[in-house]
Amino acid sequence: MRIIILGGGSAGTSVAFELRKKSKECEITIIEETGNNEYSPCSLPYVLCKEIDGFEKIFLFSDSDYIREDIKLIKNARATIIEPDKKIVSFKREGKEESMQYDYLVYALGSTPRMPPIDIADDAKYHFFRTIEDAKNLGQDIKEGKKMLILGGGLIGVEAAYAGANAGMDVTIVEYGTHLLHTVMDKDMSSHLEEFMGKHGIRVVSSTAITRIDSNKLYSDNEEYEYDTLVVATGLSPNTGLAQKSGINVNHGIAVDSSFRTNYDNIFAAGDCIELDRMNDDACCVMLGSLAFQSARVIADNILGTKSSYNPVLGAAIAKLGSIIIATTGMTLQRAKEKGINAYGMIIEGSTRSGYHPDSKRIVVKLIANSEKKLIGAQILGGEDVSGRINLCTLAIAEGIGIDKIAFLETVYNPGSAPINEPLAVCARMLMRKIDVIANASK
Ligand SMILES: Cc1cc2nc3c(=O)[nH]c(=O)nc-3n(C[C@H](O)[C@H](O)[C@H](O)COP(=O)(O)OP(=O)(O)OC[C@H]3O[C@@H](n4cnc5c(N)ncnc54)[C@H](O)[C@@H]3O)c2cc1C
Repeated sequence: MRIIILGGGSAGTSVAFELRKKSKECEITIIEETGNNEYSPCSLPYVLCKEIDGFEKIFLFSDSDYIREDIKLIKNARATIIEPDKKIVSFKREGKEESMQYDYLVYALGSTPRMPPIDIADDAKYHFFRTIEDAKNLGQDIKEGKKMLILGGGLIGVEAAYAGANAGMDVTIVEYGTHLLHTVMDKDMSSHLEEFMGKHGIRVVSSTAITRIDSNKLYSDNEEYEYDTLVVATGLSPNTGLAQKSGINVNHGIAVDSSFRTNYDNIFAAGDCIELDRMNDDACCVMLGSLAFQSARVIADNILGTKSSYNPVLGAAIAKLGSIIIATTGMTLQRAKEKGINAYGMIIEGSTRSGYHPDSKRIVVKLIANSEKKLIGAQILGGEDVSGRINLCTLAIAEGIGIDKIAFLETVYNPGSAPINEPLAVCARMLMRKIDVIANASK
């Protein structure tokens, strides 16, 4: 069986290695446009912050790993045509067009930075922050004392801003929405993040539409912002062009069923380029390395004849900015209200160990529940132990667990490792009370 994978990034490479783990027989070929083996884009901010010592550290596989696993990686080859009826894919390498026959094709071409409709002068110089090449270029322009502007206050923008501030730059984030991370975090939680950014000298200008970029300034209707280094982090578009040309169905991203199969039986798709079903919410592209990696098991199973499927996702995400970690899962309260869901939120501050322990860190927790007291979203910001708590919330949302169960969960305690009052449980108890009070008042 010959399997061809288009795109040698997080999703494509994970599928290749998962297939090989499960079958020694199939022939696996990856067609990759760049000269890179798989690396971790999620690690790029940490290289810029010098927490990871050099770009070479973030490559996940060496040439010899691919050879040992008998995975053929064709680099510097751009996939150009898919002919589903003939089961042929063509690609361009060193100016020459080549074609290969497949039994199964996996489409994993990722995403590309999106530029909003802005008037851009010819001499404007800006960076995207999507690939290792982008990060290397940006790294050259991170210089102490210089002015950095970040256009876009999503996760990538916030990480780029922190990298600049960490190197002693004067950083401003300009955001079109009302607050940082506005698609995944409510304003009350985001204000804690803005407070942290402020302590690192990062200014946040929100609710601002930039209309023009020139060689050293951004312009809104009534302000201008000077820069030495500009990062455009205004979102990503799924790479669906080749799919569309080839008759593969595309909505927001490539349309797949619960086994990641496209409208062609023998063509699967994974990673940033696909649209995913989300729990309680509309399908959309959820661009996360975690999901790209997790899709590999399902795709490999189905190609090899074992039926398996994914559950609607919650978009659980996490990032670390120096001494704080931010994480989010499920719906924001704002989104729930937009969707007409009767939802309530509660935000509390606690500590990660006994408050008197010298290493105890501050933690801020927000839980969102519907009127049946089912958890539908969570946001956490703290100095440590954020991932375990957000994963627990993801499990609770996915399994329809009520906040009453979280409120009275048996939790561990030890002054040096966990507080007696678990912040999730405290938050859940307060949220229960709030929902009861509102329900009683409306009787
Ligand atoms: C700065 C940054 C930080 C991030 N942090 C996190 C994080 O902390 N956690 C998290 O879960 N996610 C994070 N992500 C998101 C995560 O990196 C992506 O969701 C993930 O890499 C997507 O995998 P993919 O395989 O779809 O795309 P990619 O990894 O981009 O792979 C797509 C591949 O396709 C190749 N390609 C494109 N067109 C063609 C063509 N025509 N022919 C052949 N090859 C082609 C590209 O060269 C690329 O190698 C981060 C992303 C960035 C940029």
